[in-house]
Amino acid sequence: MKILRTTVVVCLAALRPAASEPIAQIRPETQTITLRAASVFDGRGRSMPDATVVVQGSKIVRVETGRTSPATYELRGLTLLPGLIDTHVHLDTHFGKDGRADNRGETVQQRILYEAENAYVTLMAGFTTVQSLGSPLDVDVRAAIARGALPGPRLLTSIRPVDENTGTPEQIRAFVRKVKADGADLVKLFASKSSREGGAQTMTDEQVAAACGEAKAVGLRTWVHAHSPGSIRAAVNGGCSVVTHGSQATTEELQLMARRGVLFEPNIGLVSQNYLENRSRYYGIGNFDDQGFAFTEKLIPLKLAMFKHAMTVSGLTLLMGTDAGAGAHGRSAEEIVYRVQIAGQRAADALMGATSLNARAIELGDRVGAIAPGMDADVIAVDGDPLKDITALRRVVFVMRNGVVYKNIARSKLPGPRKHEDTKNARRSGFSPGK
Ligand SMILES: [Zn+2]
Repeated sequence: MKILRTTVVVCLAALRPAASEPIAQIRPETQTITLRAASVFDGRGRSMPDATVVVQGSKIVRVETGRTSPATYELRGLTLLPGLIDTHVHLDTHFGKDGRADNRGETVQQRILYEAENAYVTLMAGFTTVQSLGSPLDVDVRAAIARGALPGPRLLTSIRPVDENTGTPEQIRAFVRKVKADGADLVKLFASKSSREGGAQTMTDEQVAAACGEAKAVGLRTWVHAHSPGSIRAAVNGGCSVVTHGSQATTEELQLMARRGVLFEPNIGLVSQNYLENRSRYYGIGNFDDQGFAFTEKLIPLKLAMFKHAMTVSGLTLLMGTDAGAGAHGRSAEEIVYRVQIAGQRAADALMGATSLNARAIELGDRVGAIAPGMDADVIAVDGDPLKDITALRRVVFVMRNGVVYKNIARSKLPGPRKHEDTKNARRSGFSPGK
């Protein structure tokens, strides 16, 4: 049955984007779409059985229980979740044509297509928003996704990082203003060495404070790579927003972050494991040598112990970020599975980390990270109940972002004809301004 599309009498002037915004090529449906599933987890800690999510255009308008009329998508036996958020990926990283993580010699065109692939597999895995920390390539990929031309997660990027070589505090402040002008969503700092090199502090306290202070002044968040206790303290004392990694954090730093409202984004379940699984693809590149891999092996149990410790620190917000690089794209959910299965985090807490808490941390808490009226229609369905079996996150069978269905492999299991055709062409013709 073809759904009538005569209700497109919304004011087009109101919908027309400002000149600087990308023009969307694919728009969400304007009629109502209903998704009915065994349950919904709303991303804020609440569950509802026999749930129907009502979507209009790009927004969620209602969540109901016990509805009897047929839904557009009957997602029986499945659980609906808000689209997942990973606050720490490197979307440009990839294995090149020789299968290695060294991408020297590639053209920009080749590199941007690899990034497009990573965006696609990330979206198909149920991640509808990611923050890339970050590459200049992200800027054009972000725009293509926002136009609807490229299937991918809503993308935020830091473009280029600040490190100890960026210069004096004054030069760092100028650098921050430049990345802001270039369109960065946040500023990434490297305040310590890599974990493969011991993780000692690299930027001075003054450099860190200059970067985070200037970012705040121009309205940007800051995300600080810091392993050693000293580098974590520099981030907190420098007024930065978020510490990432934190592998050597002690009670003192964990409590300091909690007290000062600095959020913590550790990554314990995917990044190091991925390097080891793909050792031959990384081996010999930069600090990926015997000593570096020895550090990586030792780091996994240390990070696990640190995370278990962090969970006991009251008031500390644990965000879900993976640091996903080449080999890890599309597998971000492994971080959540690991936190629950190995570190013993409550599934609801781990899921909130990947939804509402992450949304707040990237200042999109009023748009994404929850299934609630007024939120953007970023909804996924997983096969099973992740509150009981977190591995259900590996079985993402339905993905909607901004009201557009990008994936639905649940339908093959369902009896009867579908009410709804979700081809791109149908969507395009469904929103012709000429109608
Ligand atoms: Zn990273």
